[in-house]
Amino acid sequence: MTASDILFTIAQEVQRCTACNLHRGRTRAVPGEGPANARVMLIGEGPGYHEDRQGRPFVGPSGQFLTDLLALAGLRRDEVYIANVVKCRPPQNRDPEPDEIETCTKLFLMRQIAAIDPAVIVTLGRFSMGLFLPGERISRIHGQPRYVNGRLIVPMIHPAAALHQPQNRPLLEEDFRRLPAILADAERQRSAAAPATPPADEPPEQLRLF
Ligand code: URA
Repeated sequence: MTASDILFTIAQEVQRCTACNLHRGRTRAVPGEGPANARVMLIGEGPGYHEDRQGRPFVGPSGQFLTDLLALAGLRRDEVYIANVVKCRPPQNRDPEPDEIETCTKLFLMRQIAAIDPAVIVTLGRFSMGLFLPGERISRIHGQPRYVNGRLIVPMIHPAAALHQPQNRPLLEEDFRRLPAILADAERQRSAAAPATPPADEPPEQLRLF
C-alpha cells in the first residue's frame, strides 16, 4: 500500500470511529488533510465549530491565521499535512481527556505520522506537544527544535492562543519565520543518515557475487 492509500484508509476509519465518547457529539469527523509526501506535518489539538461542520482541519479563524503563518515560512497550506490530536470536536471546545487522546492517537495519529514520515513535526499547543515532550511547558520551549525518536519536533504556541492573547503573536510569527532553516537542517541530517545509493556504474552488491 502507498502512503496515500494508507491515509485514505485511516480517513475512512476515522469517519466511522466510535471508539470514544467524542463521536457522539460530532457533525463530521476531521481526519486531516495534505499530501502524503509532505515534509512538514502540523498537529493541532482537535476540531472546533467550523472544522466539525466542514470535516476539515483549521478552517475557522485560527485556520486563516495558520495559513498566514505558513506563508511566513514560505510554505503553502497545500504542501503541508495538517492533522489533530483528536479527530472529533470535544463538546463546547473543552480540553480533550487523557483517554480520548490515547485512544485517538493510537488508532489514527501515530499511523498517519508513520505513513507520511515527515522531516519535521510542528506541534500546535500543549496537547500536541505533550505527545512528544511530556512535562514540558510551551511558554519555555516554543520554537526550539528537539529530536524525539529520531524525528524533529518543533513545539509552537497554538494559533488560537496567539489570537486570544496578542502578546503571543510576535513569538509565534518569529517561530514560523525560523521554520525554513530548521527544515533545511532536518533534511540535511536525513540525507546524511540515509544509506548511500551505489554509483550508477557500480553494480549492486549481490550482482557482483556472480
Ligand atoms: N484548532 C485545532 O487545534 N485544530 C483545528 O483543526 C482547528 C482549530
